[in-house]
Amino acid sequence: MADVARRLGYRPSFGQSVFALTRGNNFERQILADGGARLLPELVRHGVLPEGAKGLADLRVRMNGGPLPSLPAAIDATRHWLGVLAGQTDSRTPLPAIIASPTVRIPKGVMLPEAVLILDVLAVRYDQGPPPELIVGEIKTYADRGGHTDPHKLAVARAQAGLYLHALELVLAEMGCSHVRLRRKGFLVLTRPGSNFPSVRAGEDLRHQAERARRGFELLEAAARGLPPFSPVADDPVEAVMRAETEYSEACLRFCDRADQCHASAVVEGNPAVLGDEVRRFLGEVDLGRAVALLNGEDPRSAGERDLLRRLRRAGVGRP
Ligand code: SF4
Repeated sequence: MADVARRLGYRPSFGQSVFALTRGNNFERQILADGGARLLPELVRHGVLPEGAKGLADLRVRMNGGPLPSLPAAIDATRHWLGVLAGQTDSRTPLPAIIASPTVRIPKGVMLPEAVLILDVLAVRYDQGPPPELIVGEIKTYADRGGHTDPHKLAVARAQAGLYLHALELVLAEMGCSHVRLRRKGFLVLTRPGSNFPSVRAGEDLRHQAERARRGFELLEAAARGLPPFSPVADDPVEAVMRAETEYSEACLRFCDRADQCHASAVVEGNPAVLGDEVRRFLGEVDLGRAVALLNGEDPRSAGERDLLRRLRRAGVGRP
């Protein structure tokens, strides 16, 4: 979708606002700086890593504050490190306890193209190996408020971490490195309230999320099989996506690089989704133009409009 956004003249941001991206990058830079000086002790304190763990392999690309020039370089470096970890024969060999931004290319499905995923962080334990054990971590910038942390946000973070866990399983299997142990419990890195120091939530059970990701891939594959034949050589894939039908909703703003364009089209169409999912549900099939007309006293033209008018009057809105 980033390619579609570019062709439409928008700057892709992978669905995040510039402010959220900057905030996220800054937080990651701070906790990974100086060999993970802020993150490492916190991981040890919560038992993700053992006492004495040290070392950080920085696989971030330059635009995110790392040393690598590009995503392909990050993918190569990640494969290199996974190979090194898989080949470890002596747990006393000094290897890094943290791998920042490992980047994996998920092997091509039967129908689906390859996909690139950038994990936030991997913790690596050597104390029960070789081979070492990998633990998936997800970094978020919202505050850890204990039992009061937004459960929806936590669920999203766990879902992402579960996807990364499954992606790692696929990549390790493809590399013939399935003997590397992947812990089914990962960790989240949030912020301490009012500060830029990390707060680690360890022992996050990712089994169900990884299984959900696996099933999601299967469903995608099945959906792709049901699509009409498409030749990326004969057809322009970006053009094909641009021509496809869209259905704008509030959620688009959170993840899709094309949201600005779909939002603008929805405004022109009078689609109530531009005012959010609640308004869309309330208005049903009635567009914004007709809703305003009804509020201004025009007669309803359909059963849907009559029903909306009844509900508006019950709520004390519009002319009697
Ligand atoms: S409808 Fe939403 S998800 Fe689909 S292309 Fe538009 S913004 Fe993206």
